[in-house]
Amino acid sequence: MPNFVVDFTGKTAIVTGAGSGIGLAVAQALSKAGASLALNDLNPDRIERVTDAINAEGGNAIGFHGDMSNRFQVSALIERARDAHGKIDFMVNTAGIYKAQEMSGMDEWDWRRQIEVNLTGAFFCTQLMSRVMVDEGGGAIVNLASTAGHPNPIDMGVGYVSSKSGLIGLTKQSAHELASKNVRVNAVCPAFIDTPDIPTIENPNNAMQRLGTVDDIANVILFLLLLSF
Ligand code: NAD
Repeated sequence: MPNFVVDFTGKTAIVTGAGSGIGLAVAQALSKAGASLALNDLNPDRIERVTDAINAEGGNAIGFHGDMSNRFQVSALIERARDAHGKIDFMVNTAGIYKAQEMSGMDEWDWRRQIEVNLTGAFFCTQLMSRVMVDEGGGAIVNLASTAGHPNPIDMGVGYVSSKSGLIGLTKQSAHELASKNVRVNAVCPAFIDTPDIPTIENPNNAMQRLGTVDDIANVILFLLLLSF
């Protein structure tokens, strides 16, 4: 949980990929800060469990099971969120997948799926959400990229690295085009974060010689959303 005080009472947020890891931590942090939430995940059990837990702790969350690489399901998520909460102030796109494969053996389906979820899905979310935000006076969007898409190559993962490089480009261009319309778009680029899919390894790129935590990333995201006021 963030160790600084943020008050998002009266604010609303959509978090994709909120069933696990970073998205879950962001959802918990936003709820603790008072925001009303629409939470998405591809995994129906996860999103039901997370939504129930947040509501049991006094939060105000709805769950939406859907695939963010599908334009119609992104659109349905946004409409469901607006039906439940009215104006949407924030969208945090954490839905993402990683497949460790060397270039030489890269499977076409895995290549396409990583591009579809990590890049095309974020495009659908950014495009469809920002249209609504522009109409309603503004908002803030945060995309989860990775240091793998920017300065640090990883041992295996050409599909992942390419998708995250593309996501950084998508974020930069979206920020440029939408800034004058009062919609701020940022990307956060974590290195290795201690989540279920990441093995417990020391990160050679981290001077502290430890994995980052999901709360490290949630703190940064809340800060970026806070700046939208
Ligand atoms: P995670 O696997 O713990 O959680 C991702 C969630 O997204 C899962 O619950 C999964 O079911 C969901 N998801 C996958 N595909 C989806 C889809 N098409 N539609 C909706 N939901 C979908 O992952 P994480 O480690 O928390 O990573 C979150 C984001 O941060 C990802 O975009 C990832 O690439 C990025 N990231 C993670 C790390 C890390 O070390 N964990 C580092 C850099 C960037």
